[in-house]
Amino acid sequence: MRYVKISKADTYQFLERLKRRGTLYAPQKVSELSYDFKLLEDVKEIAFGYPRTIRPPRRFFYPAEETLFTFDTTRVELYEKMPEDETVVLFGLHSCDIVGLRIMDSEFMDETPDPYYQQRRKNSIVIGLSCLPDEYCFCNVRRVDFVDAGFDLFFHELPDGYLVRVGTVTGHKLTDESSDLFTRVTEQDINEMRAFETKRAGMFRLNGNWDSLRYQLELRMGHPMYDREAEKCLGCGNCTITCPTCRCYDVKDIPSIDGRTGERVRVWDSCQFRSHGLVAGPHNFRESKKDRFVNRYMCKNAYNRTTTTAYCVGCGRCTQFCPAGISFMKNLMEIGGYVEMIPE
Ligand code: SF4
Ligand code: SF4
Repeated sequence: MRYVKISKADTYQFLERLKRRGTLYAPQKVSELSYDFKLLEDVKEIAFGYPRTIRPPRRFFYPAEETLFTFDTTRVELYEKMPEDETVVLFGLHSCDIVGLRIMDSEFMDETPDPYYQQRRKNSIVIGLSCLPDEYCFCNVRRVDFVDAGFDLFFHELPDGYLVRVGTVTGHKLTDESSDLFTRVTEQDINEMRAFETKRAGMFRLNGNWDSLRYQLELRMGHPMYDREAEKCLGCGNCTITCPTCRCYDVKDIPSIDGRTGERVRVWDSCQFRSHGLVAGPHNFRESKKDRFVNRYMCKNAYNRTTTTAYCVGCGRCTQFCPAGISFMKNLMEIGGYVEMIPE
């Protein structure tokens, strides 16, 4: 891997140049408590120290709603609607979100790739950014707090700039094209990076790793936590819509008023919705709210072979944005038997 350094002032210049490579999105403040990846028009608007965005980056490659094709029933013809051939540049992804994208890649670009996702993703540029954890973060116990694949460049904060890891050929091209902005990394920069990492490690509320958690969950399917917490759950689906690794969708045919043509649309779905398990009959595979609640805990803690992590990357979104105040992290700790580690 190659390492270079850039000053804070030159980072703004680099962001300006990134706009020439594609449509540039970066974290920006959107409300008192929320950040989101937004089109970066004024590079000074970027929020370098953001905790997490409300919407996960998967939406750039797998939108909340998209038309897959239109159809004409009289001619029995389908007209595929492929995405535009545009380059999306995502600047400022934290490690957990980069692993989240790698998990999405493993689902949508496996041996039978989803052409819509693949089209958008193949053109993308991903640039990571170091971060400090808040009370919702537990990416460290998920072992994704430091990422070594899935980015073109990764910016590590230094007191006077960023130490940049170059992860891909595209990353090499980006730094080569702007070689006037990048300098060599010094011994002091390496020490500063190390000091940042040490400070960061000390800020996480939890320690250890949760690799065995999925087995604990399988062994404790009847744990009383599920009854207690599912009772509070509103079934709103916020926890899944904000999750960087949720990928359930529904496909609907929307007929036009002419009664002849229409479109097939893919929309995000949520396992927390009652309709998600409903099939013809009307049988529902997850009839009760508790059934649906348990399903999410099992799904998120299953093992993803490609990334060798759990599907939950510990980003904290589902807890921060749950209107019922349900803490995913605390509930997992309770069921995993890490009760003594539960923070106040
Ligand atoms: S966000 Fe909270 S209330 Fe809404 S479905 Fe998820 S756990 Fe339930
Ligand atoms: S389950 Fe919650 S903490 Fe885990 S990745 Fe999804 S939103 Fe983040």
